[in-house]
Amino acid sequence: MSEKVPLTPKRRSNFPSQPIKYRIVDHTEYAANKKILNEVFESDMVLTRDQMLDVIEDFKTRINGTSHRRRRRKAIVGNNLRWINRTIPYEFKDKDNKWQELIRNGIQKWEAETCLRFKTKGLEKDYIEFLKGGGCYSSVGRIGGRQYTSIGFGCEGVGIVAHELGHAIGFWHEQSRPDRDKYININEDHIYRGTKGNFEKRKDIEGLKDVPYDFGSIMHYGPQAFTDDYKYTTIETKDHRYQHTIGQRQDLSFTDIKQANLLYCNDICKNQISCQYGGYPNPHDCTKCKCPAGLAGVLCESLPISTFGCGGELFATAVWQTLTNTIEGECFWRINAPTNQRIHFEVLEANFECDSSCAENYLEIKHTDNFQRTGFRQCCNAAPGPIISQQNQVLVFSRSSKPSANFTIRYIIDSENLPPPPLAAWRGGGFTSLFGGETGIDNTFETYIIKELPKALKNDRPADRKPLDTLQTLISTFLRSTRTR
Ligand SMILES: [Zn+2]
Repeated sequence: MSEKVPLTPKRRSNFPSQPIKYRIVDHTEYAANKKILNEVFESDMVLTRDQMLDVIEDFKTRINGTSHRRRRRKAIVGNNLRWINRTIPYEFKDKDNKWQELIRNGIQKWEAETCLRFKTKGLEKDYIEFLKGGGCYSSVGRIGGRQYTSIGFGCEGVGIVAHELGHAIGFWHEQSRPDRDKYININEDHIYRGTKGNFEKRKDIEGLKDVPYDFGSIMHYGPQAFTDDYKYTTIETKDHRYQHTIGQRQDLSFTDIKQANLLYCNDICKNQISCQYGGYPNPHDCTKCKCPAGLAGVLCESLPISTFGCGGELFATAVWQTLTNTIEGECFWRINAPTNQRIHFEVLEANFECDSSCAENYLEIKHTDNFQRTGFRQCCNAAPGPIISQQNQVLVFSRSSKPSANFTIRYIIDSENLPPPPLAAWRGGGFTSLFGGETGIDNTFETYIIKELPKALKNDRPADRKPLDTLQTLISTFLRSTRTR
C-alpha cells in the first residue's frame, strides 16, 4: 500500500515525537520477524487474496470515502472463516519435542479459558499445520484446506504462540480496531519506509461492541513495531500511563478470552446470570461468571483471593490515605467511594523488576468506567500526577514473583478543595521517572509541575539530595518543552 497517504490525518497536534531514554525490549513476534516483513501483513499475518482485497478496500474507503466492495464480515471474522464445532484440527510438521511442547502450552492457554478445542488432525480437510518457518506468523481464521502457523526461531515464547493462535482463531491485531485513534497515536515520522500499511485500521472488526479497546490484549503491537529508529516509538498510548501495558506477550487478557468466547462459545450457557462489570457466563461452568482481572465471585462482585497479608476493600474519605505494599505475590485491592463520588489518587512509587512492557511484575490500576480493559501498568517508572477515577471504584492490584514488589498510592474522595496531601517520603520514585524522559503526551508533565511544584518547594528534603538543583532541572526541562511547540 502506498506510503504517501497519511495514515492518521488528525493525529496528535501539539507534541513532536521525542526520543525515549529507556531501552525497550520487544517481547512480541515482531522482533523475530524482521527478515520476513515483506512477505507478511502487519508483521505476522498471511492473508488470503480476499482478505487482502478487503484490507485494500478499507484503505481506499478511508482515503476516498467510497466503497465498491460489499463487506461480508461482521464479526472479527465472518462465519465462513470460523472453525467448525469449536474444534481446530492440527498437525506438527516437525518432530522436535520441545518445540511441540511449546505449541501445546500455547494451545493450553486458549483451551483453559474458552470452549475451543485443538485436536490432532484426523480426516478433516481444514487444519493448521504448525511449522518451524522463518519467523512467527499465521493465517487469520479458517481459510480452507491446510493452512500454516509458523513458530520459528525467535518465537520461543508461550505468549507469542498464543498470539499466533489468536490469528488462527480469527483475530486481527488490537490496534487495527476502528476505534483505535481514541486510544493510541501512530508516530508516522518513525515508521520504516514503505511499511505504513501495517498500521491500517479495519472497518470490518465490529459486532463486538461489548468489548472495549484493550491495551493489554495479547494481540496488541508493542511500542516499536516497524520503527526505523530504536530511539523512537511508533505507537504511543494517548494516556501515556498505558505505554508500559502494550506489547505484552505473557498471557491472554480478559478481552482476548471474552472475544473468543463470544465468537465460538456464545450458545453454550442457556441460562443467563447477571454478571457485573462486563463479566459473562463461564462456558466451562454456566453457573459462574468469568470476571475481568481484579474481580471475582459468582457475579464478579468481589475481589480475588490475595496472597496472605495484602489486598482488601479500602474506603476513600475526605482525608488523604496511603496504600503501601511490599508483599510479593498477587494482591488485590478495591478503593471505594460513596455513590456518585470520584476518587482522586496518585501513584507515588512503583518499584518492580524493570521491563518496557510490564507483563510479569507490576502494579496495575483500573480507574476508568470500564473494568474489562487492562489497567495501566507500572513496574519501574511510576507515572506521576493526580488521577481522577471515572466511577466510584478503583481496582488496584500487584503481581510479583520476585523482589522488589513495592508501591505507594495515596487517595482521597475527589472534591474542589482538596486538603494538601501529606508529605511523601522523599525517595525519588515519581521524580526520577520524569528525568527518565517519560514526559507525558497527555499533559501530565505540565499538570504535575503546576500543581506539585509549590508543594515540593515547601517540603523539607534531606540536604544531600540537593532538592533545588533537582527542581531547577525540572523547571528548565519544562520550559524547553513548551518552547519547542
Ligand atoms: Zn500478529
